[in-house]
Amino acid sequence: MSRSAHPAGPRHADVLPEGHYSAPAADLNVLDEKVWSRTVTRDADGALTVGGIAVARLAEEFGTPAYFLDESDFRARCRAWADAFGADADVFYAGKAFLSRAVVRWLKEEGLNLDVCSGGELTTALDAGMPAERIAFHGNNKTVAEIERAVEAGVGRIVLDSFQEIVRVAHVARRHGVRQRVQIRVTVGVEAHTHEFIATAHEDQKFGIALADGQAAEAVRRGLALDALELVGVHSHIGSQIFDMAGFEVSARRVVQLLAEIRDEHGVELPEIDLGGGLGIAYTSDDDPREPHEIAKALTDIVSRECEAAKLRTPRISVEPGRAIVGPTAFTLYEVGTIKPLEGLRTYVSVDGGMSDNIRTALYDAEYTVALVSRTSDAEPMLVRVVGKHCESGDIVVKDAFLPADLAPGDLIAVPATGAYCRSMASNYNHALRPPVVAVRDGEARVIVRRETEEDLLRLDVG
Ligand SMILES: *Cc1c(COP(=O)(O)O)cnc(C)c1O
Repeated sequence: MSRSAHPAGPRHADVLPEGHYSAPAADLNVLDEKVWSRTVTRDADGALTVGGIAVARLAEEFGTPAYFLDESDFRARCRAWADAFGADADVFYAGKAFLSRAVVRWLKEEGLNLDVCSGGELTTALDAGMPAERIAFHGNNKTVAEIERAVEAGVGRIVLDSFQEIVRVAHVARRHGVRQRVQIRVTVGVEAHTHEFIATAHEDQKFGIALADGQAAEAVRRGLALDALELVGVHSHIGSQIFDMAGFEVSARRVVQLLAEIRDEHGVELPEIDLGGGLGIAYTSDDDPREPHEIAKALTDIVSRECEAAKLRTPRISVEPGRAIVGPTAFTLYEVGTIKPLEGLRTYVSVDGGMSDNIRTALYDAEYTVALVSRTSDAEPMLVRVVGKHCESGDIVVKDAFLPADLAPGDLIAVPATGAYCRSMASNYNHALRPPVVAVRDGEARVIVRRETEEDLLRLDVG
């Protein structure tokens, strides 16, 4: 399926192969600001700079591959989300997208709350000083030990994901003599992904308790009956990389309808609803994400309208963007190692990382773009596939993109929008050393997660 069958100017092919790519940009040297973090620009020499520092200097100091995170952009995005939703709503950053102690401190300073979904994420959050009441604990199979720690720490909410968990959390809370604030995660029968939403994919998934068949209503009944739980609301998360608000509309309507049923049956109006995360970002120039204020307006309008219709007090809304905050703020910097032109097909460009630092392309065919960043070039565009150094032919970072035809080993290329689900999903495949995350701000760069070393690998190997 090609968006543009025969873009102009390929070097190694008369007819371009099938692929999911657009025509090359008119000028490959121009950085599309949609996909790059806010302080990224080219300096007078044509090198990409972030936070005022040129990539050559960054590569020299920190090595490649490495993730460079634009701290002021991250903070600005946090503020934009917080401001857009205002004082009557809560924004929870989904820590699984990328979490480190520095990130936790930024979130804390910018007034955001934090979602965690494992003991490790909880530890990171608490260690960096996130107040427990600003933490929400998620997951479809939290261990009893994890629940213990969350309850002990006093997390602001635990999102219950199954009937077993209702009982488990109540049991732990009772043992600690506390009344734990909880929400129930419901599966609303909508699963939304990029550009579309599928209302049929519904209950066939591991997360949440289905609205259909009265399962969610039964979970609410059990939750309300347990003194050790303070059921404050209903939670729904419908997918990822969503651009279309229609899925959220259906989801909000169904959640509000459940709140009305709860009021009718139990005489209580639950004070909170959480609409989850999943808001899309621009990975390539073809993506057009919405601004936080548009999303906030759309969501709050839907909820107030539905509540008015159901004669309910409007509950406090919360949302959980992960990707939409951190995704656009980082790029991965690689050094080009080998270049293989395959006549009539495309040119394979191998970099010094790959599926160990970005599994998303192999995992779900994610689309990325790439640019030559150590210099500019006036050479014609060539169709490339950027691949890693791992022992898998599916080890692809960027499936189809254009780079200048004079690309050479030693050039630095960068893949933008890798802030979310890249470092957090990174692996040690082939005993690769996971790359560092370097925060760049106002002319200063500092490592916030260091590069793994071979000693790190050997330390785990106690053989
Ligand atoms: C993954 C997840 C999010 C964040 O999703 P993004 O696509 O990063 O915004 C939010 N809430 C829940 C419950 C999630 O599982």
